[in-house]
Amino acid sequence: MPQVTNIELSSLQRRAFTLIEVPVVRKRKSNAFTLIELPVVRKRKSNAFTLIELMVVVAIIALLVGILVPVLNQARNHAEITRCAANLHQIGLAWQYYLEDNNYTFSTGGSNGSFFYGGKEPSIASTQFAGTPLVLNHRPLNPYISMREKDEAWGEPFHCPADRPVIGGVADGHTAYDFFGNSYMANPWLLGRRLENVEYVHSRVLLAGDYQWYMSLFASSVDAQFHRPEDWLNILFLDAHVSFARVWPLEEKGYIIIPYK
Ligand SMILES: [Zn+2]
Repeated sequence: MPQVTNIELSSLQRRAFTLIEVPVVRKRKSNAFTLIELPVVRKRKSNAFTLIELMVVVAIIALLVGILVPVLNQARNHAEITRCAANLHQIGLAWQYYLEDNNYTFSTGGSNGSFFYGGKEPSIASTQFAGTPLVLNHRPLNPYISMREKDEAWGEPFHCPADRPVIGGVADGHTAYDFFGNSYMANPWLLGRRLENVEYVHSRVLLAGDYQWYMSLFASSVDAQFHRPEDWLNILFLDAHVSFARVWPLEEKGYIIIPYK
């Protein structure tokens, strides 16, 4: 009897263990772990980590771009201003040689003649206005300038590297260089004039400069500032010095004398 009951009990106990305790508990435990604890927690952890990492990376990239873009723009702006000033220095020298050979008298001008003293030929303007008295195609300064390497990136000495398309006016949609063959407008008052008849201090008389000096002074609607900041232009003076100057305040002080009329 006791043996039988023992066997029965043990079989019951076994069943009870195998049926209820071991598998169910195991399943519950394992389910609980796999469904709730382990996988979910792991997923959360890995997701949270990549999100934070991603945000940090994005923030660093944004920071670098934010720092680098203005620095690069500024560097390019400075390089263009320097190169432009070098162009104007060369044009100033060419004028000196030209004046020595031509009885110290500037070449004659016209309505657009202040561009045609030198530069690329042909240009859009010289083709468009061919045969009209507006155009003087002789470009007398060219023989006095060493055109050097015809570098496409920077262009010839008559090409301001920051020259950009004009909005409005006769050259609308074109750069001054493409349209007139020259980014640097000469002072029309000087053209055709003998140097000894210039009654102003030479260091204060504008000889040529970035095209907008003219637009700025006469408040034209044409707007295509070459350099930054706005209203700052490279200007070649009659005494051959070049300065990066702001036109309006200097003109108000009477520093730049442009007796056009
Ligand atoms: Zn320039």
